[in-house]
Amino acid sequence: MGFGLGAIQGWLAEVRTTYAAQTAKLDALDAAIGDGDHGTNMARGFEAAANMDFATHDTPQLLLKQVGMQLLGTIGGAAGALYGTFFLTIAANWPSEPNTPRFASSLRAARDAVQARGRAEVGDKTMVDAIDACVKSFDDEPDDAPLGEALARGAEAAHRAADATKDLVARRGRAALLGDRSVGHVDPGARSMAHLLEVTARHLG
Ligand code: ADP
Ligand code: MG
Repeated sequence: MGFGLGAIQGWLAEVRTTYAAQTAKLDALDAAIGDGDHGTNMARGFEAAANMDFATHDTPQLLLKQVGMQLLGTIGGAAGALYGTFFLTIAANWPSEPNTPRFASSLRAARDAVQARGRAEVGDKTMVDAIDACVKSFDDEPDDAPLGEALARGAEAAHRAADATKDLVARRGRAALLGDRSVGHVDPGARSMAHLLEVTARHLG
């Protein structure tokens, strides 16, 4: 199964709609332990990505790279650099014929790149926690599991990891400035990442 122009545009349209619907909730999560702009940042980035002119690109790798470049320039803040890195790494590792183990290895590469970029360990209460939970969920999938179904289970694991950030002390990003006072609040970037994975699962069936 490929991920061509039409599929990518359909996926981007749903991601845009999702972040538009989640803007207030994600902003509220960020207001509790950051500066209150994470939902607005994600909605702006994917509004721009969904409206991109893809005319000159025709492979999934180039299309996804273009998405990464656009997000890098439009999300802004810490999350812009990290989501940009996430997509550029997915693009660079996108398999020509995606299946469950091949997608899992591109996601693993993206997790490693985001960690290298932001220097966050798993458990530091960031988006890395959500990506890592999804990567680990793929470890339990048989190679012949349908990709959309495997990713849907991975997205549920990512949402559970986002829930679990509530009990953690933030060690990276703006929230780390609060130290122990960050406990009791879900990390906005972990939640936004879980939403992204959840929507993506519906487009890789
Ligand atoms: P900013 O903090 O610049 O306002 P956003 O509010 O858009 O950026 O994004 C905040 C989110 O970015 C956090 O919830 C966290 O998940 C993620 N984040 C911030 N710093 C890091 C980091 N060093 N490594 C991984 N994720 C990070
Ligand atoms: Mg913020």
